[in-house]
Amino acid sequence: ALTVGVLALQGGFVEHINLLRKAAATVFAQRSRADAAFEAIEVRTAQELARCDALIIPGGESTTISFVAQQSGLMEPLRDFVQVQKKPVWGTCAGLILLSNQANATKKGGQELIGGLSVRVHRNHFGRQIESFEAPLQLPFLAGEADPSPFPGVFIRAPVVEEILSRGDGPEVQVLAKLPGRVDKMKTGVSLAVTRDDSGDIIAVRQGSILGTSFHPELTDDARIHAWWLKQVLRPLQDA
Ligand code: GLN
Repeated sequence: ALTVGVLALQGGFVEHINLLRKAAATVFAQRSRADAAFEAIEVRTAQELARCDALIIPGGESTTISFVAQQSGLMEPLRDFVQVQKKPVWGTCAGLILLSNQANATKKGGQELIGGLSVRVHRNHFGRQIESFEAPLQLPFLAGEADPSPFPGVFIRAPVVEEILSRGDGPEVQVLAKLPGRVDKMKTGVSLAVTRDDSGDIIAVRQGSILGTSFHPELTDDARIHAWWLKQVLRPLQDA
């Protein structure tokens, strides 16, 4: 049985759980019954975290998630889960920020990060809430999935990876996706296409068991990344 947790302190955790269940239905349909048991749970305590084989940290507000995690004594168990036990973790947007070793805060004062990814993120890279946008993304790592259509990238006060840091003796940081040269951004709620050159902005990375994306698959009904990630999570568990 596979138990995947979603950190449920703030942000889009319900949406992630729904997409995980949708993705699991397709991923596990191709498998034998014996290992088809799958559970997606909300994680608010160290006990719940300890039950998980893998974890998603949702989008939301990274400062808030970090504050609540500290108040509820979850920060150290999270660091242990990610950095010591090295269980698979995926952070979307605020989750990517929390999994980074460094973040450029836009305001004064830092924030406690879980860390693990040898990168520095730039928070709110594209600007304020009204500069949120959607862009169709060609994600090379989804090439093996049946549906070849672009992935709907939802960017809300999104971070980007602005620098890959020294990885010490850790695994290599792989860049999984960048924004293409020009993006037609459909401003949410406004029928105006904004084209801006953000060529080369890094929006998805992987380092060992850690995956981070700038955008929010949980705010779409597209379960392809969840399905891809579940397969990545399952692979080493099967070999073990
Ligand atoms: N800008 C937010 C932060 O710093 C992240 C935005 C998001 O997750 N939608 O936490």
